[in-house]
Amino acid sequence: MRVARRMHKIPPYMFAELDRRRAALKARGVDVISLGIGDPDLPTPDHIVEALIRAARDPATHQYPPYEGTREYRQAVADWYARRFGVALDPNTEVLALIGSKEGLAHLPWVFVDPGDMVLVSDPGYPVYGTAALMAEGEPYPVPMSRERGWVPDLGAVPPDVARRARLMFLNYPNNPTAGTAEPGFFAEAVEFAKRWDILIVHDNTYSEIAYDGYRPPSVLQLPGAKDVAIELHSLSKTYCMTGWRIGFAVGNPEAVRALAALKMNIDSGQFAAVQAAGVAALRGPEEPTRSRVAVWQRRRDAAVAGLRAIGFDVAAPRATFYLWVPVPAGYDSVGFTAHLLDHAGVVVTPGAGYGAGGEGFVRVSLTVPDERVHEAVDRIRSALSEPAGRPAEPSGRR
Ligand SMILES: *Cc1c(COP(=O)(O)O)cnc(C)c1O
Repeated sequence: MRVARRMHKIPPYMFAELDRRRAALKARGVDVISLGIGDPDLPTPDHIVEALIRAARDPATHQYPPYEGTREYRQAVADWYARRFGVALDPNTEVLALIGSKEGLAHLPWVFVDPGDMVLVSDPGYPVYGTAALMAEGEPYPVPMSRERGWVPDLGAVPPDVARRARLMFLNYPNNPTAGTAEPGFFAEAVEFAKRWDILIVHDNTYSEIAYDGYRPPSVLQLPGAKDVAIELHSLSKTYCMTGWRIGFAVGNPEAVRALAALKMNIDSGQFAAVQAAGVAALRGPEEPTRSRVAVWQRRRDAAVAGLRAIGFDVAAPRATFYLWVPVPAGYDSVGFTAHLLDHAGVVVTPGAGYGAGGEGFVRVSLTVPDERVHEAVDRIRSALSEPAGRPAEPSGRR
């Protein structure tokens, strides 16, 4: 059997590799603390689970759902957008249900990218953007980001011949992995850039509700004229702790929404209508469950930032996401430091280089474990720092 050439372009999925390493350590009896994967540890709110159970009992949900999503789900999305962002959306032409936002992100290049077209992806960034561009035989162009610029890409540094060939620009604020946030001023710049070069902005707004200290992340669609050039993707995964449920949505430019729907019609047949009914309960339901979950992550953020700063890390306290983007100590690169923490602390973090060359020098710490494990992880990292770099914890014969 021979797989298609394009499959060789897929880099190893970093989280799968981390999972394997963690499993190997666990098999050796090591008590591993995983701060590696961005998957909320807190449960889906009860009223959402109840809505699924009720809907699943209704045989009407047992048949194929409408391709574009149920009318109730699209209306709930439009109403949520009006309430949350003050953005008016037509549920019939400007809202599309997704089987998780990753599904939409991965399919968009198929819709807009011809072989040889360029796709602007931020570096570092969520790996799906670049891989999806490669599967459509496009060329991802990494736009550098830096701590100095607050982890927003420098669009002025994109060469004109690249901008001319670009069809899509992926943006993601609040950002995974850097936890950076964008001000409306940046989106204005992005919209202007997209108009000038005829590029579709794909804004991944997965973390809009995971924010602290009163910060309310914006929608790119709040900018005048943004709907001409932008589509925004959301996920219920992080907002409502529903990663396993696979439900999200795309909103914005009606042509882009229609084109994505036309592709999806030929690939999937929509998300289970009962899951969409649960999505309606989530979007229309009380905000308290999200608020209390965010308060838990904020508490962990404060503990981890204070703990890591006390042992010498120059780590910023993020305004959003449940990630810390931590500079690695001198003498390590990100993969080396990740391996050191695995060997000497039994702590899993994600090496920044896995998100692109621009992530080198950092590791991502995910605060998705109970508070006491966050404290313990910091203690273990402190001890691991006193071990010399590059020496394994045990004689290699025992591993
Ligand atoms: C978690 C995550 C997603 C995936 O969300 P799903 O709706 O579960 O597919 C997309 N983008 C970013 C940046 C994420 O961190």
